[in-house]
Amino acid sequence: MNERKLLEHIYARSAGMEAENRPVLVGPGDDCALVTGAAEHLLTVDQLVEGVHFTTGTDVELIARKAIARSVSDIAACGGTVQVCLATGAIPAAYEQADELFDAMRRWAAHWGTPLVGGDIARIDGSMVLTCTMIGVPHGARGAVLRSGAQVGDGVFVTGALGGSFQTGMHLRFEPRLKESAWLCDVLGNGLHAMIDVSDGLGMDAGRIGVQSGVRLRLWTDHLPLCDLGELKGGKEGWKMVNDGEDHELVFTASGDVPDQCPATGTRISRIGEVVESCDAEQGCVFVLGDGSEVCGDEGGWSHATGEAGQ
Ligand SMILES: [Mg+2]
Repeated sequence: MNERKLLEHIYARSAGMEAENRPVLVGPGDDCALVTGAAEHLLTVDQLVEGVHFTTGTDVELIARKAIARSVSDIAACGGTVQVCLATGAIPAAYEQADELFDAMRRWAAHWGTPLVGGDIARIDGSMVLTCTMIGVPHGARGAVLRSGAQVGDGVFVTGALGGSFQTGMHLRFEPRLKESAWLCDVLGNGLHAMIDVSDGLGMDAGRIGVQSGVRLRLWTDHLPLCDLGELKGGKEGWKMVNDGEDHELVFTASGDVPDQCPATGTRISRIGEVVESCDAEQGCVFVLGDGSEVCGDEGGWSHATGEAGQ
């Protein structure tokens, strides 16, 4: 299918979008989409690269799902709801499922509540690269939840379970925590201080909250909720799987009482640590082991490149 036919295919699938989606005044087919919206917007863009984020031969539905879900997760991490998205694809010339791929991306975007309003396609010699740009709006009462709001004395919490996303395939099937994010904003309000989604590993991402807030997050390895694989490995070694990355769970800091389960989804909320004063501006997170010793947040992790434990 050539580019013109593929664009026609996408436009045909998108016909009538303006009537169905209130923020969309003009959908795919012009040079830009035209949307209405609130005064504040959240914007994020993510790439999905063949050979890095998915292996060649991955099912088209799962590629599309992950391309959209990564950006949805970023909006959730800021306490937002999704509004509209755009997607691009640099697609190998020999790939024959481009139309199915964009159909699936449009379906997954709709699944999480956002119309796919436009994008661009190029045929290339090389590996597939997809991007998804997502636009959202912050929670109406709480406003945007940033990485920079953590306060000394906060608890540190995480949704769901961590680790093993590549071994279990969850990196392709994770559920972006949109509902949990909205619920946390509802119930905690301004007591919800900082939040991030775990994409690069718990230690590294929690460390970003610490550095950007000027504090340190102390994470208790005995309290980390591990995936079944991590439980199998045992507490002593299994906890290192939290640095695998691509869990897309929410890590947040908050003051006051935090419920241990999101009622709408049943998602577990675990307290995993505390926020303390920082004595090192570049050391935003440490893990506290069972014997009380501490290791740097991005140490002891897993190297995707080598499959071996990192330094
Ligand atoms: Mg993120």
